[in-house]
Amino acid sequence: MAYLDTRLFIDGSWQDAADGRTIGVRNPATGEEIGRVAHATRADLDRALEAAQRGFEVWRDFTPAARSRIMREAARLLRERADAVARLLTQEQGKPLVEAKGETLAAAEIIEWFAEEGFRVYGRMVPHRTNPSVRQMVVKDPVGPVAAFTPWNFPINQVVRKISAGLASGCSMIVKAPEETPASPAELIRAFQDAGLPEGVLGLVFGDPAEISEYLIASPIIRKITFTGSTPVGKLLAGQAGRHMKRVSMELGGHAPVIVCADADIDLAVRTVGAAKFRNAGQVCISPTRFLVHDSVKERFAEALAALAQGITVGDGLAEGTQMGPLANERRLSAMEEFQVDAVARGARLMAGGARIGEAGNFWAPTVLADVPLDARLFNDEPFGPVAGIRGFATLEEAIAEANRLSFGLAGYAFTGSLANVDLLTRRVEVGMLWVNTSAASSAELPFGGIKDSGYGTEGGPEAMDNYLNTRSVVVANG
Ligand code: NAD
Repeated sequence: MAYLDTRLFIDGSWQDAADGRTIGVRNPATGEEIGRVAHATRADLDRALEAAQRGFEVWRDFTPAARSRIMREAARLLRERADAVARLLTQEQGKPLVEAKGETLAAAEIIEWFAEEGFRVYGRMVPHRTNPSVRQMVVKDPVGPVAAFTPWNFPINQVVRKISAGLASGCSMIVKAPEETPASPAELIRAFQDAGLPEGVLGLVFGDPAEISEYLIASPIIRKITFTGSTPVGKLLAGQAGRHMKRVSMELGGHAPVIVCADADIDLAVRTVGAAKFRNAGQVCISPTRFLVHDSVKERFAEALAALAQGITVGDGLAEGTQMGPLANERRLSAMEEFQVDAVARGARLMAGGARIGEAGNFWAPTVLADVPLDARLFNDEPFGPVAGIRGFATLEEAIAEANRLSFGLAGYAFTGSLANVDLLTRRVEVGMLWVNTSAASSAELPFGGIKDSGYGTEGGPEAMDNYLNTRSVVVANG
C-alpha cells in the first residue's frame, strides 16, 4: 500500500480540517516527506466533542455482547490488513517491518482480550445491616467521553490499549494520535469504523498537541484523560486535569534498571536484554537502560553486549534483513549525540557504536558504554534510544539502591540463579513491572504501567477497565 495522507475522523466520517491545514509526515529512513496529516481547528474539535457526547449516549447502552461483536470484527479486519498496515507503520516510524507487523497483530489480540473482558464488568450485591429485603447494589458505569493522547514510538499499540479498555467499558473516545506517525493509527480506527462502530464513539484528531490537550481537557464533555508519553508532559496534563477534576491515567517515561548478579546466566542475560535494548531502536518506555552488573562478571557482560550490538544490521525498516531501523525523528538523533558526548566526557568507556550512520535518515549505531558514572546524563535522563550504559556493583543491596535512586518506576529486569535474590528483588525494586531471567513480553491480560514518576493507572489486565468505570451505589427499599 502506498503511503496515505491522513484525515480527521469525526462523527463517523473522514474529513479535512475546517481550514484545510495539513502537516508534513516524513520517513525517518530517508528524511523525505511521504504524506500529509490534517491539522484540526477549534471548530473541528468542537464537532468531535459533540459527536463523542452523542456516541457515548448510544454506546453506553450497548450490551457487552453487542460491543464485543463489533470489537472482535475490528480485530479480524486488522489482522486481515496487517501486511498493509505494517508497511504504513514502518514508513512513518522506521521500525523493521517484522516489528511493525508484530505490533499490528498484537493489537488485534489486545482488542479481542478486552472484547471478552467487557463481559466481566460486574457490580455486586451487599447485604443490608438490618433489613434483608433492602437491596444494596454496587454498579459500574462507563465514565463518559474520554480524551486519549498517544505517542509515536508504538503508533498502534499505544492507541489500542486505550481504546480497547475504553470501548469495552462503554466509553466513547477522542484520540489525539501522533502527528509524526498518523497513518497506522488511522488504519486502526478504520478497522473499528468498518466493523460497524456507531458514529461518534471513536474520533481521531491531529494538530498542535498542547492546544488540543488543553482544549479537550477543559471541555465539560470530556470526563477522563489518558496519556502516554514523557513524564514532564504527563505532569503538565495531570495538572490541567486536576484543575477540571477529570479522571486521569498516565503511562509515562522510565529508566529501567537491569540487575545482573554474579550467579546469573550471562549468555541468557546478554541475549535477552540485548534484544530488548535495541528493539524499536531503544524507543520503548520499558527499554532496559541502566545495566548494573556484578563486578565479577561486568567485563564479560560488557564485551558480549558490545559484540551483540556490533552484529546488529541497521537499515531501512522496509529492507530485508534489517534488525534495527532509524530513530523516529531528528530530535532523538541529537539526543543520542548529547548522551554519548556527556558520558564519555565524564569517563565512560565506549565499547560499541557511538556515532550516526550515514547522512540521510536518522540512523544511530547500537551503542554500548561501560563504567558510566552516576552523574552522567545517561544514568539520569531517559535515553529513549539505542544506547546501553553499564556500571558495576559489589552487593545486591547497592544495586537495588541504585535501581531505586531515580524518580522513575516503570520497568525493571534482573538475572540471578538464586531464589533468595529473587525474593529480595521482588520486594525491593520499585517498578510497576519486573522481569526476572526473562524478556519483557507484555500481554493484554497483565497489568502494564508504572509507579512513582512513571505514572498511574495500568493499561493491561482487568484493572485497566477500572480506569474507564465509575463505581456507584444504589439502595432500593422494598416498599
Ligand atoms: P515530548 O515530551 O515533547 O512528547 C512526548 C509525546 O507527548 C509526543 O507524542 C507529543 O506529541 C506529546 N505531547 C507533547 N506535549 C503535549 C501536550 N501538551 N499535550 C498532549 N500531548 C503532548 O517529546 P518527544 O521528543 O516527542 O519524545 C521524547 C520523549 O518522550 C522521550 O525521551 C520519552 O521520554 C518520551 N516518550 C515516552 C513514550 C512512552 O511510551 N512512555 C513514548 C514516546 C515518547
